[in-house]
This record gives sequence, C-alpha cells and structure tokens, in this order.
Amino acid sequence: MIADKIKAVKLKIARCCEQAGRPADSVRLICVTKEADAGQALEALACGVKDLGENRVQELASKYTIIGDKAAWHLIGHLQTNKVKDAVKISSMIQSLDSVRLAKAIDKEAARLGKVQAVLVEVNTSGEESKFGLKPDAISDFLKEVSLYQHIDIKGFMTMAPEVEDPENARPYFRALRELRDKINAIHNTRYSILSMGMSNDFEVAIEEGSSVVRIGRAIFK
Ligand SMILES: *Cc1c(COP(=O)(O)O)cnc(C)c1O
Repeated sequence: MIADKIKAVKLKIARCCEQAGRPADSVRLICVTKEADAGQALEALACGVKDLGENRVQELASKYTIIGDKAAWHLIGHLQTNKVKDAVKISSMIQSLDSVRLAKAIDKEAARLGKVQAVLVEVNTSGEESKFGLKPDAISDFLKEVSLYQHIDIKGFMTMAPEVEDPENARPYFRALRELRDKINAIHNTRYSILSMGMSNDFEVAIEEGSSVVRIGRAIFK
C-alpha cells in the first residue's frame, strides 16, 4: 500500500519535472510521518525514501529512538526555543526558522555539538495569522542579521500555501516564494537555492513554480 502510493507520488513528481524541463532529481521527496507510526515510516524507507519530516520535536525524538540515522530528519513545524536541543541533535534540516531568537538558540546548540545546522527560513507568504513564518518584507533584514551566525547554514526558504479546493489557487504563494528568493539572491549576492513548498494537495503546482523540496504526508500514509 505505502509502496504503491510512494511509487505514484514519485511518478507524478517525475512527470511534473519533465514538463517543467527540470531533471527528475531536482525535487526531493520528504515523507511527512506526523500521522504515521514508526513502522509505517520504516516501510517508506524500505521503498527508497531517504527523508522523513515531522512537525513536532517530541514526535521527532520518539521516532528517532526507533529509526535513528536510517533517515535524514526534517523538522517542518514551529520550533520553540526550549525544544532546540533535541531538534538540533536529530535534524539534518530545520525548515521552520522564523525568528532571530530561535536562530541564536540553534546556533548556540549547534556550536556546542560541533555541528553546522542546515536550516530553511519559513516565510508566511499568505499573510494568514494562523500560520508561522516571517513576513516577506522582513526577510532581507532577518538574513542580514542571521547570516552572521557561524553554526547555521541557511539553504533557502519554506512556505505553506493556504488550504484551497483547487491547487491552482495555491500557485500565487509558491510563485511569491520563488520571486522572493530570486530577489534576495540578487540584492544580497547570495545563493539560497532550496524552495521547500508543496504538500499532498498542491505539490504539482509547487513543482511548476520551482519547488525543490516537497513535503508529503496524506498522499502516502492515508
Ligand atoms: C503536515 C504537513 C505537511 C504534509 O501535509 P499533507 O497534506 O499530509 O501532505 C507538510 N508540511 C507541513 C509543515 C506539515 O505540517
């Protein structure tokens, strides 16, 4: 079951890439296991998946005790500074950096572990109050400050589109993130590359808009 669903998702990713004239390996699939158990997560890994995503540190830590480094772990949900220790210990990427205070805490913990923590800056492209992430117009100043931290490596940006019936209506938010990245790279002379955008309902549109990381849960585990 899980194997079939992963196959189907991978096929869709490959088709989208082909249509967009991009290499099939330019999009990384992250299986979001927040509604799956460790056994199902292991099944996904057995299908060749390398990356797992969790949105809560507690769940991340709990699955990590079972699965360990068989997966590359991504923290995709909001991170409180008091949970930074476990998050930095386990995560190959923290995708939800959204404040200077959090950056400082991650940097400090990564330094203590002798690690450089890969992160994505979460952007609230929709302006919805229910969503985390920095406002697009705050990103430039934020990066100026945070890029000084030596134990954080900012790889790019993450966003969540609003929940919409028609995935086409998510397109403007994905496009906004790509344009923001390109603008930032031009202004700052940087090379932020990763765009983490697209979930079960809208990943195809996200890939058309340049996504390089899709985070998929329901389409695989439900
Ligand atoms: C749950 C979640 C996903 C996966 O959503 P699905 O609709 O299950 O594919 C992706 N990103 C974040 C931040 C999530 O919390």
